[in-house]
Amino acid sequence: MIDFSKSDGDAANTVPFSRRSFLAKTSCFGAFYAVARLIPLPALAAELASDSRVSQTPLVDKGFAAVRKIGSGLYATISDSSKGLQTICNGGFLVGKDSALLIEGFTTPAGASFQMDALRMVSQVPVKGALDTHYHFDHSMGNSFYGANGVPLWAHVAAAKRIIDSYEPLQGAEKETVLGPFEKRIKDAKSDTERAHAQSDLNAITGVFGVANASMLALPNHPLDPAKLPMSVDLGGLTAVVESHPGHSGTDMVVRVPEQNVVYTGDLLFNGWYPVCFDEKATVSGWRETLKKFAALDKDTLFVPGHGQICGQEGIATIREVFDDIAGQAEKMYKAGVPVDEAQHRYAVPDKFKNFPIYAWGFTIGPAITKLYAEWKAGKS
Ligand SMILES: [Zn+2]
Repeated sequence: MIDFSKSDGDAANTVPFSRRSFLAKTSCFGAFYAVARLIPLPALAAELASDSRVSQTPLVDKGFAAVRKIGSGLYATISDSSKGLQTICNGGFLVGKDSALLIEGFTTPAGASFQMDALRMVSQVPVKGALDTHYHFDHSMGNSFYGANGVPLWAHVAAAKRIIDSYEPLQGAEKETVLGPFEKRIKDAKSDTERAHAQSDLNAITGVFGVANASMLALPNHPLDPAKLPMSVDLGGLTAVVESHPGHSGTDMVVRVPEQNVVYTGDLLFNGWYPVCFDEKATVSGWRETLKKFAALDKDTLFVPGHGQICGQEGIATIREVFDDIAGQAEKMYKAGVPVDEAQHRYAVPDKFKNFPIYAWGFTIGPAITKLYAEWKAGKS
């Protein structure tokens, strides 16, 4: 069993299970699901218990996700993947007098359907659109629900192509062909640490493979060109602003409600998690700049992160500290001439972040270090 709470900061211990016991515990949905099931959702922070915008009782709680009112016409859908995997990421919806806007396609149509049902508990206004904050599978594999229900699907102009390029090749592919290179890395690992990291990557890719093969790809049909953003969306007495920022995936969008100091960040914020940096379009310097902008927003800003619990500015401060720590350790190794292949495995999780989930080493810390090295080589930061 993986118990994140018992991780002692030793990288090798973040995934303390053998391949055999691991395979015995996983179903066709694969290893990521086994991992996700063990990531508990923390309770609302004490500061938010006294925030008058945040309802203390959820509107609806299905286990795998709960919907909570977080402002006037504003709702957050917060996933708890330890209880089910229909949604995995967070989302939400905004309800004005004339129309509504949904956020995220989630991992399954059942997840998107759950959120739509929650919206219908509070309003019958027409839905103007549903926004995928970016193209990643856990935010987009439920898109077909919107297609089947005539809901226009909004996303970054590059999202549709990224969905096709990333997930279509996995459909019908031989599992061994996809997983083989990851299994080889486990076999070839030079240390227990590297082996544990390679195992965590195999777990993640097994999950992505399973989800891609269980899903019908449905593509956004309302592309948003970042050059034309920010864009104000009038829902009737409630104005949302859609913005594009660099960092996590090259397709990242956020929804902001300036009048109420609320931001739905998508995966530009992982609250209390290590950030997922693997995307070829992820940029560590760009992401840190984006977080600096979030930190400069009103001190009472409420953030709905892509993963983890709702938070205030302390959530932004924490993920900035995580990036600072990764960059600090990486810079020491860079200056000492440690080769990047080695450096990406050598990062030590400090005590204060020891309970932070690491989705998979090679999707989070490893690529953060690789990208930092590349940025320093290019003289960018
Ligand atoms: Zn993502």
